[in-house]
Amino acid sequence: MQNITIFGATGSIGDSTLDIVRRHPDRFRVYALSAQRRMKKLAELALAFAAKVIIVPDVEAVDAFREHWPADHALPEIRLGERGLCETARDPETDCVVAAIVGIAGLASAFEAAQAGKRILLANKEALVAAGELFMHTVQAHDAQLLPVDSEHNAIFQCLQDGRQSQHIRRIVLTASGGPFRNTPLHELETVTPAQACRHPNWSMGQKISVDSATMLNKGLEVIEAHYLFGLPAGQIDVVIHPESTVHSMVEFIDGSLLAQLGNTDMRIPISYVMGYPERIESNTPAFDLSKLHQLNFSVPDYQRFPCLRLAFDALAAGQAQCIALNAANEIAVAHFLQGRLRFPQIAQVIERALDWQSGQSGNIAHIDDVFQLDRQVRERATAFLPASV
Ligand code: NAD
Ligand code: MG
Repeated sequence: MQNITIFGATGSIGDSTLDIVRRHPDRFRVYALSAQRRMKKLAELALAFAAKVIIVPDVEAVDAFREHWPADHALPEIRLGERGLCETARDPETDCVVAAIVGIAGLASAFEAAQAGKRILLANKEALVAAGELFMHTVQAHDAQLLPVDSEHNAIFQCLQDGRQSQHIRRIVLTASGGPFRNTPLHELETVTPAQACRHPNWSMGQKISVDSATMLNKGLEVIEAHYLFGLPAGQIDVVIHPESTVHSMVEFIDGSLLAQLGNTDMRIPISYVMGYPERIESNTPAFDLSKLHQLNFSVPDYQRFPCLRLAFDALAAGQAQCIALNAANEIAVAHFLQGRLRFPQIAQVIERALDWQSGQSGNIAHIDDVFQLDRQVRERATAFLPASV
């Protein structure tokens, strides 16, 4: 029986994770759940899964949570903010942490889980982008276990036979759907709306990652994530556009063999893999319908259409500080785009300016506090780079 703590329990990854928990009451017990907003949903989940602990941002959220809690049930223990998340990450009752908070906000608690030597199911790719070297080092030093939830990395992890084939890689190939604007005339990108950007053709996900998929910065973040997870240089990480999203990623080995993992676009598949690991467990997803699979298409991404992907490769080549800047500037830009205060092509422009600014600074990242400090500085800068009006 594993005690599971889910950070970001009310989100899209949280939903899929809890669906697996629900189907395996003999294997998993929910220990703690966190959310930033949507206290009604958090209360329903905490009740349904009998969570012992919940983590909410502040006292207002506590009040909102209590409002939705039935009077005849004992309240779970309530912890607050990042301190509460970190306390729960190292809590002896937590066996396994699902890191599913979106953005840099998820780094501190995931890092704490690594320091506490926990089993970490990592969805929060931003943590590895911003602190990859420190994170991987901490996982090793504290004998933590890091298992990738992100479907591409999960696919690669499976193809590598859980890392046992890592030394024989020629390259890995990350597949990308190309998002909702793969074929949109370039001039129309100027006027696309947040709703259009969030309408992903193949996956249903949170808003931020949906916009990242539309700019393809998501694939850029995943290239950096793969670099740290699998210890590969950028030159051995390729990206191809694969609109069907059936092949979730591939590994080419030194002998020329190419292994791929295929399946439906349902995050319960990679999540069940890491939850059950090293065993496979039932995900209760429908069987893959091969009769509907007429063709698999692959093409090279166009950097003119997807400048964010090029920026990510450049940041990786330049080092950790540029990766922090890439992520921070993107979080600011995407938040403003979602609020209708930035046009879609301006996301790449804000990131590029932030990267230029950072390249003129000293970029020594030796401690996790250096990551947070640079992240804060870049956010301030990126905010200053935003246009006054759209
Ligand atoms: P989401 O927006 O649906 O959910 C985010 C969760 O984090 C919510 O529970 C929210 O309350 C919480 N949260 C948001 N801001 C927070 C903050 N400042 N502090 C604490 N908690 C906060 O996002 P999602 O789609 O579930 O994605 C979560 C993470 O998983 C992201 O890093 C994303 O890149 C990654 N991921 C998601 C998918 C997917 O299919 N959704 C696939 C691969 C990777
Ligand atoms: Mg992915």
